[in-house]
Amino acid sequence: MSYYQDHLIQIFFGNKSTALDPALIRGKKSSKFIAEEPFIAIQKEFLLFPNSYVFLHQVHGIEGAVITQENLDISVFMQDGDYLLTNVPGVGIGVATADCLAIVLVDPVKKAVGVIHAGWKGLVSGIVEKAVDHMQFEYGSIISDISFIVGPSAHACCYEVGKGFFDQARALRPSIERFLKAALFERDGRLFFDSILFFKLIFFEKGFVESDFDFSYAECTICKPVYCSYRREKMSPLRQLTIVSLK
Ligand SMILES: [Zn+2]
Repeated sequence: MSYYQDHLIQIFFGNKSTALDPALIRGKKSSKFIAEEPFIAIQKEFLLFPNSYVFLHQVHGIEGAVITQENLDISVFMQDGDYLLTNVPGVGIGVATADCLAIVLVDPVKKAVGVIHAGWKGLVSGIVEKAVDHMQFEYGSIISDISFIVGPSAHACCYEVGKGFFDQARALRPSIERFLKAALFERDGRLFFDSILFFKLIFFEKGFVESDFDFSYAECTICKPVYCSYRREKMSPLRQLTIVSLK
């Protein structure tokens, strides 16, 4: 696990050692589980403990929620959604993943953050664009102020997909066909998907540049056994947490 902080935000990137089964705390308020593992261990990583944690019931869709002072103590993993946004300091918004991309959004000017769970389906369907649009709508963020910090996920070295993947993904959103083509490649007769390249290409077209992406925490979950990986351990319900909090 690792920890990032600057003057505005702090981010916890978990691995297997602080992983949890979302079903076990589903429906609880964070005031109820904050004193239990793995949150005791997670709290130690933060310079400032988040006062509460918010997680949605992830469904590989493109919907999300805005967390305000009023709803920051909602029951965790209950409400369906795959991204969270907030401008409230001290609330830890998080996603639970095993191979899917965990993406943190930061706008240091409007002092707002977001966190996104993006599997291939969500990515292709446009969840990251949706979250960025929502951030612009909610906080008046502008593209040139937004940046991405990416957590561990399945990388192109290991992320094998079936022969029908291209057609399946294109059917979800035909307009991204050229990005799909660029992010799929064959090796030894097998097909691999570079979800990170796919994600970057979409945002390069929107005016983002290489320096808007931080991949220093984005190790491959499949070839690094320290992480939970759905593809490596299909039967395991454990998911690593990525949590961002405004200071
Ligand atoms: Zn790998």
